[in-house]
Amino acid sequence: MKDLMEMSDQLFVNTYGRFPAVMVEGDGCRLTDAKGSEYLDFASGIAVCSLGHCHPVVTSAIIEQTKKLVHVSNLYYTLPQIELANMLVDNSFGDKVFLANSGAEANEAAIKLARKHAETGCFEIISLEGSFHGRTLATLAATGQRKYHQGFEPLPVGFYHAPFGDLAALSKLITHKTCAILIEPLQGEGGVRPLGKEYLQGIRKLCDQNSILLIVDEIQVGMGRTGSLFAYEQFGIRPDILTTAKALGNGLPIGAMITTNKVAAAFSPGDHATTFGGNPVSCAAACAVLKTILTEGFLDTVKERGDYLYKGLKSVADQYNQLFAGVRGHGLIQGLVLHNHVAEKGPEIVNQLFNYGVLVTLAGGKVIRCTPPLIVSTEEIDAMVAMIEEVVSNI
Ligand SMILES: *Cc1c(COP(=O)(O)O)cnc(C)c1O
Repeated sequence: MKDLMEMSDQLFVNTYGRFPAVMVEGDGCRLTDAKGSEYLDFASGIAVCSLGHCHPVVTSAIIEQTKKLVHVSNLYYTLPQIELANMLVDNSFGDKVFLANSGAEANEAAIKLARKHAETGCFEIISLEGSFHGRTLATLAATGQRKYHQGFEPLPVGFYHAPFGDLAALSKLITHKTCAILIEPLQGEGGVRPLGKEYLQGIRKLCDQNSILLIVDEIQVGMGRTGSLFAYEQFGIRPDILTTAKALGNGLPIGAMITTNKVAAAFSPGDHATTFGGNPVSCAAACAVLKTILTEGFLDTVKERGDYLYKGLKSVADQYNQLFAGVRGHGLIQGLVLHNHVAEKGPEIVNQLFNYGVLVTLAGGKVIRCTPPLIVSTEEIDAMVAMIEEVVSNI
């Protein structure tokens, strides 16, 4: 593995700090590296492989579709696209869909649609501090974390950031030029920070009062992660535009923007496009994913397992309360939060867990983020919690 990793470091632009493993195989919640070592995967490729690695239903949908048709561009209609859009519309607030290849592209589509939908001269978008919306220039401008902006200025103009949790401050940023507020119902990269129900409902109200659109970024928390197909369902709000991506294709690249007929009417042919977006293979995978998530009882089990994971992590947080401030999240995205003054222990804990064969990710600098596949078993949760306890007891 060492030679392969050295070769890779020479070949690639240096954009990733990687863990020292060349992964070769995945099955459910397990990964195997080139040395044959096994890992218990509580990262899921950052909340992407939500049905676990190589889920048989998704794999067979991909194989079958590659035998029929792989690409024709959006100059023509294809069956998997129509089937997918139908399912997304049937199971959400939306009437219409735009398919992209990634989260950032779904958000780009949302930003462009919000601007086109608004009156001329009305282009400002407000998002929240601590948010993450992508790495393209516009989605970077929307991202409320300065560290990601540095070195890339000037960014597109018209993006403003409101302090997290402060409805009054958000309201003050609204001007006659504002066209949308963009939020994650739970900030993933920002540190597994859920927005309170009243806060979210307050944001919806602000949008209504000022006739601006609410864009809900569910790229990380959509597709069943929180125990409902989309997180917004649990907050009693309706988005005007929703974006989702990560888990939509269980690993194949696909993103979607969902919206209402009224908002969608702002776009006409030629306004926005993508060559690969909605390609038949990714759509076939996404159809298989949606069908599986919507199987009777699937989401109830996600909620149950989420509670179980929360309790396990909470017991560790309570036992080591000099290190941890608590646990937060919804369903199967849970974060073990370090106290600020010991935040530097975060990378150490994550690296130690890796050495023990458990994969988690660090979010917001001080939060151990757990996003296991939604099919994770209670035994796997027990094993993971036991490993965290072991690691933390030696920190
Ligand atoms: C990952 C993520 C994105 C960006 O998605 P990409 O597919 O990496 O472009 C945007 N928003 C949120 C909330 C995310 O978690």
